[in-house]
Amino acid sequence: MSASLGSDKIEALKAILGNENVHFGSSVERFDPGFDTENLNSRFVVTPESVSQVQDLVKWCNNQFVSIVPLGGRTGLVGGGKSTPGQITLLTSRLQKILQIDPLGQFAIVESGVTLGALNAAAAALGLSAGIDLGARDSCTIGGMIATNAGGMEAFRNGSMRSRVLGLEAVMADGSVFDDLITVLKSNIGYDIKQLIIGSEGTLGIVTKAVIRLEPIHTRTATFLISFDSAKAAIQALRRIVGEADVKVLRSEIMWRSHFEVTATLLNFNSLVAFASSGSVFVIIETKLDRQDDFDGMAEKVLAGCAATDGYMDALGLKSEREISDVWRVREDWAVDRCYPGGLWYDVSVPHQQLDAYVNGLKNSLNKIDSSLILFALGHLGDSNLHITVTGEVPPTALGEQISECIYEPIKGSGGSFSAEHGIGVEKQKTLINWGNPTRLKLMRSIKAAFDPNGLLNPRKILP
Ligand SMILES: Cc1cc2nc3c(=O)[nH]c(=O)nc-3n(C[C@H](O)[C@H](O)[C@H](O)COP(=O)(O)OP(=O)(O)OC[C@H]3O[C@@H](n4cnc5c(N)ncnc54)[C@H](O)[C@@H]3O)c2cc1C
Repeated sequence: MSASLGSDKIEALKAILGNENVHFGSSVERFDPGFDTENLNSRFVVTPESVSQVQDLVKWCNNQFVSIVPLGGRTGLVGGGKSTPGQITLLTSRLQKILQIDPLGQFAIVESGVTLGALNAAAAALGLSAGIDLGARDSCTIGGMIATNAGGMEAFRNGSMRSRVLGLEAVMADGSVFDDLITVLKSNIGYDIKQLIIGSEGTLGIVTKAVIRLEPIHTRTATFLISFDSAKAAIQALRRIVGEADVKVLRSEIMWRSHFEVTATLLNFNSLVAFASSGSVFVIIETKLDRQDDFDGMAEKVLAGCAATDGYMDALGLKSEREISDVWRVREDWAVDRCYPGGLWYDVSVPHQQLDAYVNGLKNSLNKIDSSLILFALGHLGDSNLHITVTGEVPPTALGEQISECIYEPIKGSGGSFSAEHGIGVEKQKTLINWGNPTRLKLMRSIKAAFDPNGLLNPRKILP
C-alpha cells in the first residue's frame, strides 16, 4: 500500500537523490509519458544517477511502504508503466552509460537507461550490433526491453531479449543488489534468477545494468518484397530460401493484404498500392550480401525458392534506398491506427501450420459479431508472431469482450500463445488469469512474494 508523498517524504527523497533528481507537481510536465498517457499519473518522478542511488531509494521506499514503478523509454504497449498518485515513478533516463564494448568477447555492458539505438550506434563503430531490432529502437531502453523480454524482427534467428542477455545487475525490493554481470554464455549455478527477472516487467527487481551479446553487423543487404496467396506458401518459401547454403535471411516480416494496401495507400506509395493486387500476403525478406554487386545473384536464389513454392505470386527486388525505406515504412508505420483510431490490438503467436486457418477463421467470426469490423494483421513471419488490430469506422470498444474471445479461443490448446512479445502489464491480466494454468499462477504468486514480500515493485502488474 503506498502512502501519499508529503513534504517530509519529498525532503527525504531529495536528500537521497539530490534536488535535481526529484520531480513533482508541474516539473513532471517536462517528461513525455510516451506511449501510454497514464505512464506518469503518479505525478512524482525520480531520476537516479547510479545503482547506489537506486538502492538507497528502494530501501527508503521499503521502510516507508511506498511503491515504485520503473520506467525506461515509455514505449511499452501493455500498460506496464502506468502509475497512480502516491507511487514513485523511477525513470532510468540518467542511467545512460555504455560502460564497455568488448569486440573479442562480443558483448556490451550498459546501464539500463541506454536506448537500443544508442547501443547499436556504439556497437556499429566496431562492426557489431545488439542482434535485436524493433520499431521503437530510438526510444526503448535496454532495461525496458529486458523487463518485457522484447522480441522484434531478428528474434527468429537471434532469440528474444532472454537470449541476448548474458548477465545483469538489478536492485531487489529490499534494496540489495543482485549482481550477475557475467560476460560468458555458459554459467550453470542453480536457479536462474536472471531469467526470472527478464520478462518480469519491473515486478521482481529494477534492472540497473546488463551485459548484452553482440553479433556481427550486416551492412550489405538485399531486400525483396514478395507476394503469396497464403501464409503457408510464404512460410514454405521462407524455409526454402533459408535452406539455401549461401543465403542468410536477416529479416522476414509478413503483412496481410488489408494492412499492406491501406497503409501504402495512406502513405501515397503508388507503386506499392499497385503491387497490393498481386497477392493475399506480402513478405519482406532481407538477406545478407557479401558484396553489394551480388544483388542479382541473390535475387536469383531468393526467387528460385519462391518459384518452387505453390502459391508464390510476384516479387520486387528493391535496389534503391527509397524503395527499401518505403517498404519498411509500410511495415512499421501506424497509419492504420491514425486512420481508424481506437482499434483493439493483440499480440499473439500462432503455430505456422495454423496461420491461414486462424486468420481466415478470425475474419469469419468477427464478421458474425459485426460485419463492419476491419481486421489488420502483420507480424514476424520467422517466429509466427502476429500483431492484430481489430477496428472500424467507430472504435469497437464496446465489443471488446467478444472480439477478444474470437482472438484467443482458437489459440487455446493450439501450441501458440495469447501474449507473444509485449508482455502482460495490465492489458493482458484478465487473459492470463483465464488461461493461466493454476500451477503456473500459483508459482508466479510464490515468486512475487519471495522477491517482493511487501508488494512494492510495480504492484498489480502482470498479476492483478
Ligand atoms: C513503435 C513500437 C514498436 C514496437 N515493436 C516491438 C517489437 O517489435 N517487439 C517487441 O517485443 N516489442 C515492441 N514494442 C514494445 C516493447 O515492449 C517496447 O518497445 C520495449 O521493450 C520497452 O522498452 P521501454 O524502455 O520503452 O520500456 P517502458 O515502456 O518504459 O517499460 C516497459 C515495462 O518495463 C518495466 N521497466 C522499464 N525499465 C525497467 C527497468 N530498468 N527495470 C525493471 N523494469 C523496467 C516497466 O515498469 C514496464 O513494465 C514496440 C513498441 C512501439 C511503440
